[in-house]
Amino acid sequence: MSRPTLQTRKIVPAERLANLRYAIRDIEGIADELSAQGKEILRLNIGDPLQFDYTTPPHMIEAVVKAFEQGKNGYAPSDGIPEAIEAIRREAERKQIRNVQAVIVTEGVSEGIEISLSALVNPGENVLIPCPEYPCYSAVLKKISAEANLYQLSEEQGWEPEIEDLARRVNSKTRALVVINPNNPIGAVYSRQTLTRIVDLAREHGLVLIADEIYDKLSLEEENPVPSLASLDSEVQVVTLNGLSKSYLVPGWRVGWCIVSGEGDLLGPYIETMNKLLRARLSAGHAEQFAVPVALDGNQDHLPEVRRKLKSRRDLVLRWCEKIPGLRCVSPRAAFYAFPQLQLEGNDTDFTKNLLIETGVLLVAGSGFGQPPGTHHFRLVYLAEETILDEAFHRIQAFVEQRYSGNAIQVD
Ligand code: PLP
Repeated sequence: MSRPTLQTRKIVPAERLANLRYAIRDIEGIADELSAQGKEILRLNIGDPLQFDYTTPPHMIEAVVKAFEQGKNGYAPSDGIPEAIEAIRREAERKQIRNVQAVIVTEGVSEGIEISLSALVNPGENVLIPCPEYPCYSAVLKKISAEANLYQLSEEQGWEPEIEDLARRVNSKTRALVVINPNNPIGAVYSRQTLTRIVDLAREHGLVLIADEIYDKLSLEEENPVPSLASLDSEVQVVTLNGLSKSYLVPGWRVGWCIVSGEGDLLGPYIETMNKLLRARLSAGHAEQFAVPVALDGNQDHLPEVRRKLKSRRDLVLRWCEKIPGLRCVSPRAAFYAFPQLQLEGNDTDFTKNLLIETGVLLVAGSGFGQPPGTHHFRLVYLAEETILDEAFHRIQAFVEQRYSGNAIQVD
């Protein structure tokens, strides 16, 4: 019997994903081409400490190797292994998160974002996302045909959220409010007063707070860990997201978690839907979860050294931003991201693209994260050793002097 002729129409991808962008990695295509032509690329675009001089604590590696050797190579329980869940509950206690209704283990915080939003938000509903944004949130919302409702962070006020703007944006279709503290892409840490006002807004409008605290142990200025949003109010519904990628230096292991806290009676159906999604994707990686108790309860000796390096690299970035005309940077207070404003003619996409092509310095344009209207920025990851950062800034300085004749324009 003859087989049907192959249909030659192009396979059309889902329309709802037509505008999906992930600026942090999208620009790497050009960098890879340049690299293949032999150009040296200084990659300051991705927040992966393992690309630089940071090493995973050995006791975590031992725990995972032991788990592999002991045959933990099958599926794990969908919501995570009990040893990890118990350790995360102890961590919640240390962080004074009360009324914990559920703890689940996810494939990194990225999956925690996906599960917590997919289980909650219907097509056409919206979620308040900080702008400049961390793009994973909009990507997930696009996947589920929901809207990102962007609220502004104010550069003039140290990148604190503009609460009035936030309050104005709540409408009948708003289901959740995302707070990333400490923040990526700008490294801000919010004041307690701001956080309290955010909690009050969520109480008033029945919004679920999604508190992304993946950088909570990387504060460069004040207390570590940065207090959890959920610790401010034991009644309001909060999904606290955290994981091992950044503070525990294992982004490749893909281990994260959600702590769901607040008034229990109100949360039952939501938690059950999260669990259904977890069962539908079978399980997170198994052996890697054995690192969770060792990481959270074990020695934290690596952290002061990581913070020391980050602080001195952050200071180096700030010194350079002061020195180069046309750059202005609010001091990051945590994590490893700087978000300098470009006070130069033209837009930031052209700036970062031309900079890459001419000098090999790979940054991400601020427009990839959204930014206050009328402003231009770039995000720079300052994980790299000081020699690399110095080299990058020498090249940026030469590029600015050559292209812009050293003339900054005043934009404010
Ligand atoms: N949330 C924020 C704010 C991040 O910056 C990142 C990674 O850069 C993630 C979540 C994703 O982390 P994970 O590696 O745990 O998926």
